[in-house]
Amino acid sequence: MASKTLDGIKSIENFQIEDKRLFLRLDLNVPMNEDLTIADDTRIRAAMPTIKYAIEKGAKIIIASHFGRPKGVEEKYSLEPVAKYLSEKLNKEIMLVEEPRGHAARALLSGLKPSQIIMLENLRFDPGEEKNDREFAQSMAGQTDIYINDAFGASHRAHASIVAMPGLVDKKGIGFLMRKEIEMLDTIRFTPQAPFLTILGGAKVSDKIEVIEVLMDKVDTMIIGGAMAYTFLAAQKIQTGKSLVEKDKISFAADLLKRAEMRRKRILVPIDHRITQDIKDTEGSKICDGAAIPDGWLGVDIGPKTAELYAKEIARAKTIFWNGPMGVFETEAFSAGTFKVARAIAENEKAISVVGGGDSAAAAEASGQAEKFTHISTGGGASLEFLQGEKLPGIEALRPPKRSEKNIEDGGML
Ligand code: ADP
Ligand code: MG
Repeated sequence: MASKTLDGIKSIENFQIEDKRLFLRLDLNVPMNEDLTIADDTRIRAAMPTIKYAIEKGAKIIIASHFGRPKGVEEKYSLEPVAKYLSEKLNKEIMLVEEPRGHAARALLSGLKPSQIIMLENLRFDPGEEKNDREFAQSMAGQTDIYINDAFGASHRAHASIVAMPGLVDKKGIGFLMRKEIEMLDTIRFTPQAPFLTILGGAKVSDKIEVIEVLMDKVDTMIIGGAMAYTFLAAQKIQTGKSLVEKDKISFAADLLKRAEMRRKRILVPIDHRITQDIKDTEGSKICDGAAIPDGWLGVDIGPKTAELYAKEIARAKTIFWNGPMGVFETEAFSAGTFKVARAIAENEKAISVVGGGDSAAAAEASGQAEKFTHISTGGGASLEFLQGEKLPGIEALRPPKRSEKNIEDGGML
């Protein structure tokens, strides 16, 4: 599959990695339970193809990732449970290096043998990481022959392991996950097959305005659910009770509805809802038959008629992009709409279906239909930024220098 974004960028397969010190920047930032066990290993599983390839080819492997948002060194943000988990999955010893800048790290690295793996402790324990610090980057680049970024979910941040470091290594490229993420999202951006359907939901309109604008140009139909829907209902002067409405986005929603009509695109909003008087009250929730929500009640999920209507749209689409759950899916009583949509996507086997956004990916997993989607992005926020057309600094850092820049680097000599 061709990808515009990846033009000129090398991949792990382009390098001779046997016996070379291979730095794998991965996104192992997985959700954890209270007891520090791994709650969802999706990102670890997604990184496996690149790790296994590196082992098979006999590279000397250095794995690095950030983890959570620690303030300095905080034990609960140690990558130790991740190293242990990965080690069990691979049936292979993985040493965790506590101070990547330290002497011990260098000693370990110089003793590294082909197909062996060490993992650096949480990169964000070092203040240099988030500052895109060149010195911190150099401490890692100095131990690296080939740099591979397979951390799509971290590539929208200009941090040392993402931007400064590839700037200091000649041989650099992407891994298998990064390729898949970018190819799939490029398909949505540049070559969606009609009918192209976008399903948007989630918490807020304001989080998604840029994505909505970009997708609006490309879609045939847009389906709206989640809390976002109530702002669209308000824009049509339909009663919303005490549902979440972003007052300052009502005019944006009204304008979008008008523009869609002019361009003969369809925007569908819920025709019924699940409502409750308090978001914590699951027992007292009920179906509200009709678009208008009575005073004192709030919408927490799309209703069954809406779910049916949306499922029919999904069944006839050729390209589907989904961001944002249809309701408060984390609560079982309010999850039916989201899971019905997930099932409908899974059942449309001829469509290319891509899910973006952290909570949406979690919803797709929770629906039990995950393996039937074409692609569930591990990127969270990065996938939306990328779709919006923003250049991800981590990808740009992998482009070879343009000829003119290269001449300057080489002291003006060709
Ligand atoms: P993503 O992370 O996939 O981009 P968002 O963060 O925009 O998705 O939205 C996910 C959140 O939206 C979920 O936590 C879900 O509970 C919430 N949500 C969806 N529908 C509603 C609703 N009707 N009322 C309140 N919250 C909602
Ligand atoms: Mg979210």
